[in-house]
Amino acid sequence: MKAAVSLNDLVVRGLVGEAEAPALLPVEQAFRIRVTGAMEGAIANRADPVARQFLPDVQELEVRDGELFDPIGDEAHSPVKGLTHRYPDRCILHVTKTCEVYCRFCFRREAVGDEGHLTEAEIIAALDYVAVNPQIREVVLTGGDPLVLSTRRIKDLVARIGAIASVETLRVHTRIPVVAPERVTGELAETLGKSRLSVVVVVHTNHAQEITDGAKLALGRLRGAGIMLLSQSVLLRGVNDSLDALEGLFRELMRNGVKPYYLHHCDLARGVSHFRTTLADGMALMAGLRGRLSGPLLPTYVIDIPGGFGKVPVNPAYVVPAGAPKEWRITDWKGGVHRYTDS
Ligand code: SF4
Repeated sequence: MKAAVSLNDLVVRGLVGEAEAPALLPVEQAFRIRVTGAMEGAIANRADPVARQFLPDVQELEVRDGELFDPIGDEAHSPVKGLTHRYPDRCILHVTKTCEVYCRFCFRREAVGDEGHLTEAEIIAALDYVAVNPQIREVVLTGGDPLVLSTRRIKDLVARIGAIASVETLRVHTRIPVVAPERVTGELAETLGKSRLSVVVVVHTNHAQEITDGAKLALGRLRGAGIMLLSQSVLLRGVNDSLDALEGLFRELMRNGVKPYYLHHCDLARGVSHFRTTLADGMALMAGLRGRLSGPLLPTYVIDIPGGFGKVPVNPAYVVPAGAPKEWRITDWKGGVHRYTDS
């Protein structure tokens, strides 16, 4: 089934009511819409955990104080176009701005959505940067979603990164095995699995309802190719902010050979406050999960410090109350201290 890419498509398919549509037009103008056939099939009703992630909502028009265009500060650490170098030993390569779905809570929602990928000249410049910085041991492919590229382009990119002797690990951040599992072909799995690099695929998924039979096949194909599978999820109010939902997700991931890796606190992207929990709520959920799940099933709950100061675990070693309600003091990996307000 073709993806729904407009408000009109959503109305025609009965995913959004006709009466609701006019109020959603400004949302469509501000942020792209795309719902794949796999995710459309996983939606049971307008208010369920899958629908909430992909169907536009008028609450996206509400921008709160403190919300940012670039909440995790990609641009602050970008020495060449398409590359973010925040930590010495790793860098992120944003190979495309395109995704198979557009998530309503996306932390890069102001950056994703354009058609088109990095040009050949931009890829050459980015890989040259990696080659002359041998402290970079790991390249993280992200976007957008890097697996929207054709298998031919992925093959070429993996080979070129593999040719840089100092790089040891290739991490691929993707939502495709879940939202468009048919794109995980045997050829793609083999391409990743045969690289001389240690390849880790980090699958973004937020609720067990997304892990359809197709997703299970795609994950099985990647595992079969010898690829390490981790997950990253976002803690989302109304989607997975309950012990039952999180336990269900992490158990389903482990059943499919995916180690729950990160649970992200929802970033301060513009217009996503209706998805954001407080840090205290997130910590309470993690404490509750500890009694329900064994170590391998528990991810690390993390926050990206706004402004590009990196990611830290949300625990008292890094995140402490700052005296007033909803105010926190967060220490980054270099020892810098930052104020954070739940909003
Ligand atoms: S797949 Fe990732 S990058 Fe793309 S819209 Fe969703 S959260 Fe954003």
